[in-house]
Amino acid sequence: MKLSEPEHIAPQDAPARKAISPVICYPIETLQKPDLKAYRAAREGWTKIDEVVVPPREGQTFSVQAGHFFRIISIEGPQVGDLNLWNADNNNERFFSGKTRALHGTHLSVGDRMWSNLPFMRPMATITEDTLDWYGFDKFGGSVHDVIGTRCDPYTHHLLSGDNYHHCCHSNLTNALAHATKRSFKDCEPFVHDVLNVFMCTGFTRDTGQYFMKKTPVQPGDFLEFFAEINLLGALSACPGGDCGAEHSSDTAACYPLKVEIYKPRQAPKGWASPDVNGYTNSGN
Ligand SMILES: [Zn+2]
Repeated sequence: MKLSEPEHIAPQDAPARKAISPVICYPIETLQKPDLKAYRAAREGWTKIDEVVVPPREGQTFSVQAGHFFRIISIEGPQVGDLNLWNADNNNERFFSGKTRALHGTHLSVGDRMWSNLPFMRPMATITEDTLDWYGFDKFGGSVHDVIGTRCDPYTHHLLSGDNYHHCCHSNLTNALAHATKRSFKDCEPFVHDVLNVFMCTGFTRDTGQYFMKKTPVQPGDFLEFFAEINLLGALSACPGGDCGAEHSSDTAACYPLKVEIYKPRQAPKGWASPDVNGYTNSGN
């Protein structure tokens, strides 16, 4: 809770304390940079081997082998997508939105990586092209492809409105995983995690620091492209919020499908090897 007026008087040196410059929590200069040139060169002569269309207000899974690419493409109309990623060979390894945010910032684009959870913590996918990279940050502090939101879910919606809505991204992702792995909804629910909000335009209000969304700038033909660093099982939900310009967690917004295309390069990017799990050695004390 934040009171509109503070209860405590600012100390005399408050201006000096507030004027201290910030430091970056996680400088990433020591991280090995992805060789974007090599990744992009590998697209030459690639073959599209699969495509999946995610219906509006639904979720779908897709598989991508390590060393292949996938694109999430806007087709038909402006639509936001919520993306989950798992290691296809061990679903306990999954995308870690919070640490990805700590490393790369609030919104992802070309050259940024989607990192997996502890204790694995390695790159799962690298973003190799983003047709919305021109957007940058707008005057409200908004940008696209965030890792600051979570995923719209029926529990928060119920808390705030008392309603029951069954096509939130959380439910869509869970249903998609249950269908793909032939497990029950209940079994799959703990595996669904915070997402990369593909095409969504979001930020924090400057005055209250609240999470905001605004109509996505995406248009049909725009895409976000990834290189799979490990074998991936992905799930994508076409958010019931549609372009997320007004609301989510209801059937009122106009919603469109999203397409996922999988590409196999003729050969792996020069010098690339699938990353090992994190090298930290736990003494187990
Ligand atoms: Zn959603």
